[in-house]
Amino acid sequence: MTQSLPSPAAHARAVLAELGVAGLPADGGVAVRCPIDGAILTQVAYDDAKAVEAKVSAAVRAFRQWRIVPAPRRGELVRLLGEELRAAKAQLAALVTLEAGKIASEAAGEVQEMIDICDFAVGLSRQLHGLTIASERPGHAMRETWQPLGPVVVISAFNFPVAVWAWNACLALVCGDPVIWKPSEKTPLTALAVQAILDRALARFGDAPEGLTSVVLGGRDAGERLVRDPCIALVSATGSTRMGQAVAPIVAGRFGRSILELGGNNAMIVTPSADLSLTVRAIVFSAAGTAGQRCTSLRRLIVHESLVDKVADAVESAFSRLPVGDPRQDGVLLGPLHDAAAYQAFVAAMDQVRADGGGVSGGERLLIDEHPDAFYVRPALARLAAPSPGMQRETFAPLLHVVPYRDFDEAVAIQNDVPQGLSSCVMTNDIREAEAFLSAAGSDCGIANVNIGPSGAEIGGAFGGEKETGGGRESGSDSWKQYMRRQTATVNYSGALPLAQGVRFDL
Ligand code: NAD
Repeated sequence: MTQSLPSPAAHARAVLAELGVAGLPADGGVAVRCPIDGAILTQVAYDDAKAVEAKVSAAVRAFRQWRIVPAPRRGELVRLLGEELRAAKAQLAALVTLEAGKIASEAAGEVQEMIDICDFAVGLSRQLHGLTIASERPGHAMRETWQPLGPVVVISAFNFPVAVWAWNACLALVCGDPVIWKPSEKTPLTALAVQAILDRALARFGDAPEGLTSVVLGGRDAGERLVRDPCIALVSATGSTRMGQAVAPIVAGRFGRSILELGGNNAMIVTPSADLSLTVRAIVFSAAGTAGQRCTSLRRLIVHESLVDKVADAVESAFSRLPVGDPRQDGVLLGPLHDAAAYQAFVAAMDQVRADGGGVSGGERLLIDEHPDAFYVRPALARLAAPSPGMQRETFAPLLHVVPYRDFDEAVAIQNDVPQGLSSCVMTNDIREAEAFLSAAGSDCGIANVNIGPSGAEIGGAFGGEKETGGGRESGSDSWKQYMRRQTATVNYSGALPLAQGVRFDL
């Protein structure tokens, strides 16, 4: 039974009030549209060049103070943020659903990811470990330490409107760096809500410097302004490969540092020994979940020729039964595509499959009468006899290409033969195949999984990918080192001045 729900705009007004987001312009701002019904949720005011400059200057000033606050004390701010996020989890998740169109459970999962990275960063604040290194000179000691880097800019994409900021900001804050956030122009409200939640943590913390964190609202221009600014030590940019191609040379040209998290074109290899029940569930979640709008969404299925029809039929049947609709409704598993441009890209990619000689099932636009300005679709399955030109590109929609393979080496070669290198997986119960996939000659991606799909990573590992995905790593493992400056120090506690490598320079 469908629940009776408020209009997205009324729902957003209520949630924004509960979250304490104030000061939105009544008119004259830039409209924020809801993917659920295509209507305007509210308006926001963009930052002009002067406002951006002021936020950068405030971050530079904040850095001078924040870098000398002991790291475990900096961790206390992130601990308080984690508490505030726990208290606001339901409301923030509701806003993620309204603005990004994710189903309620995935939106709650995204906020949980923020909480998880807070916990990780609090522990990290007491573990920013350096090294002691044996010196070749008598009476000398060497050490390597990690120092705060400077203001960090986080540019984020619409599809993970809050978690990506948290991956970066929680690490940056404990590392001693101020954070300026330029969210996607499609999802500014969740950014304002996170800043309101963070303001409550800052108030409880007490003495954090002004301008330690800020949000810059705007489009590509605002992003570029921040990227060009020499005061920004690190630009962490998540989005399309096209965006990364614009950002990377600018940051490199001024010898800044960047973390690039760009497009993916993720694959699964299904081998003869795979557990097929588990495999089909993994395929459907990773290809159709989030309406195919994850950077790690499954886009290419490479199946042993003995199984390809069986697997494709099972996926096609599951796709045809998936409940599609308002992502706030209980039981709905597939919300809308974000906007008309996303739908047009989906249609163009299906046309490309047909032009490449393949067949497409599914892909229909749904719920047109109820939501003429929103874009709900049935996930599409594209069957091809061999890899096609269309499979080289990322289409940010639920379109899954299926191709057969004969031997395992060929499957790995197909998997690697795309410009992107984010996520990959193999479904197998053969240990030789699993280990070969994870070996130096196996998957060339930043993420390689066995017997799970390519999406749904945990925060404990470093997240990111190779090739056109940009090479960046965020979140767990030792990703924190990118937010710090490495310093090697040699201390002479002897009365002599021996030179390294036996060099003599006697005066
Ligand atoms: P997008 O590239 O259109 O926009 C992303 C962000 O970049 C936005 O904030 C936008 O304003 C900004 N931007 C665009 N051009 C810019 C420029 N020249 N200078 C500075 N900023 C600029 O991406 P999108 O449509 O919001 O998101 C979808 C894309 O993001 C997909 O390709 C997806 O794979 C990718 N993505 C990657 C990851 C990852 O971790 N690898 C995670 C999420 C999304």
